[in-house]
Amino acid sequence: MDGPRFSLVHIQQRAYRVFNKETKLNRHDSKKLKDLAFPAIPYSENKHINVKGEKSPFDGDLAYWSERNSKLYDGETSITLKRQNHTCVACGLKLLSDERVHLHHVDGNHANWNSQNLIAIHESCHDYLHMSKSAS
Ligand SMILES: [Zn+2]
Ligand SMILES: [Zn+2]
Repeated sequence: MDGPRFSLVHIQQRAYRVFNKETKLNRHDSKKLKDLAFPAIPYSENKHINVKGEKSPFDGDLAYWSERNSKLYDGETSITLKRQNHTCVACGLKLLSDERVHLHHVDGNHANWNSQNLIAIHESCHDYLHMSKSAS
């Protein structure tokens, strides 16, 4: 039998009091902490709704994401992205993630902004490229 001592409401009220006492926060913040500790909707349910409600690169709408991402960049990066069809030259994957896009100067000359000398790659691919270059 569940007595009042073990009911969820009792535990929540106790947690509320503990948060109030220990952190000396105002009522508003304590309420927020309580809500974080005991969300009204189970996390998995929330997640399900979010995934359905938002566009993701994996729902096949690549045009939308290419468009969205190229707006984050201007000038040479945007031009280079379009020329490469938004594909990373280093790893062959689409440059659609939130990872930053870097411009790499193929000949190593950072003053050479000739479009033939520029490739757009992921930030991590760029790091890897330079790491492997200095290693060899
Ligand atoms: Zn890459
Ligand atoms: Zn580089």
